[in-house]
Amino acid sequence: MKILVINAGSSSLKYQLLDMPEGKVLAKGLCERIGIDGKYKYEAKGEKLEGETPMATHSDAIRFLTSMLVDPAKGVISDMKEIDAVGHRVVSGGEKLYESVLVTAESKKAIEECIPLAPLHNPANLTGISACEEVMPGVPQVAVFDTAFHAKMPKKAYIYALPYEYYEKYGVRRYGFHGTSHRFVSEQCAKAMGKDIKDLRIITCHLGNGSSIAAVDHGVSVDTSMGFTPLEGLPMGTRCGNIDPAIVETIAVKENLTVSQVLNILNKKSGVLGVSGVSSDFRDIAAAAKEGNERAALANDMFVYAVKKFIGAYAAAMGGVDAIVFTAGVGENDKTFRLKMTEGLEFMGVKVDPVKNDTRGKIAEITADGATVRTFVIPTNEELVIAMDTEAIAKAAK
Ligand code: ADP
Repeated sequence: MKILVINAGSSSLKYQLLDMPEGKVLAKGLCERIGIDGKYKYEAKGEKLEGETPMATHSDAIRFLTSMLVDPAKGVISDMKEIDAVGHRVVSGGEKLYESVLVTAESKKAIEECIPLAPLHNPANLTGISACEEVMPGVPQVAVFDTAFHAKMPKKAYIYALPYEYYEKYGVRRYGFHGTSHRFVSEQCAKAMGKDIKDLRIITCHLGNGSSIAAVDHGVSVDTSMGFTPLEGLPMGTRCGNIDPAIVETIAVKENLTVSQVLNILNKKSGVLGVSGVSSDFRDIAAAAKEGNERAALANDMFVYAVKKFIGAYAAAMGGVDAIVFTAGVGENDKTFRLKMTEGLEFMGVKVDPVKNDTRGKIAEITADGATVRTFVIPTNEELVIAMDTEAIAKAAK
């Protein structure tokens, strides 16, 4: 079965065509600057192409990418009809959509109702769905939610200590994000350990530009660091993570800014970028720290410290931990961070072997001899999870 996976943003659209059940990536690409001037990247059969093409709408982008897929020279299929189903990444499924669903008029309405919870993302995801409906009528489409894996958190973990009516009236609670990634790497971790996930307590650290940690207790995400929005939790590339909410007023008053302007700063100008003043990219910060930039070193230390605190907290939340997983851009690639984030956790049975830790971008166990908690590097693959869910749901709907 050939599944097209779509991750639509407001002016961009990432895609992969996967051959299932093997999960082989036949082609992948990116359409950018939709509605502006239209740029594309396309990769198939070991060849990479990029260029410009007018894309006024997301439908134009879908038309363009499908024309690439069926192109006699550059393509990987001979007819659009070979695309059996389309899977969409959708950011928020709110409280009602806690598993992947077939796209129907009803589920689209439910995704629309979640727009207040993801005002930047859900409208773009819906645009991607409509564009596919227009260009590929009759092809089953499936929505896979970033929030779904966290939907079984206990209430004590998702309720904020605010007047309860805000939860009831506006759905103000923790939802969490990166669910597809936390689900995938926790399942892969259980597999690598040769155990049933239902017998394990796993802490998954998704550390990229956006970062979150989850406590996966016997296969269920029981807590996660992102909250009502992706702003909460760890300091990230540009997001502040946990801060005292009273700071918002202080900055607004002192700098004569509106709440939205302050939130924009907390989302886009804070995190390691804000502290270092150098970059939001952890590679740039590491390089600056190496050259003696103290604020860059501080940004690094702050990030490491926050990750360590969440690991401790989630071990306590689950009454122990059997495995820790590092994933995403930083988690998969940066051995120094992994070593620092686990240093000093020997008291709870965590110790990483520096030699085994000298690895990148592939599944690897990096546990030191004698450690009782096993530590892994596991590359995430959100597209594969979306394709797997899409395959199962499209088959069931036939
Ligand atoms: P997102 O999906 O949230 O945009 P990624 O998971 O792609 O982010 O992670 C991006 C981050 O990963 C960047 O800050 C980058 O510095 C870091 N990163 C990527 N590759 C490496 C590497 N080889 N070594 C260290 N950090 C890396």
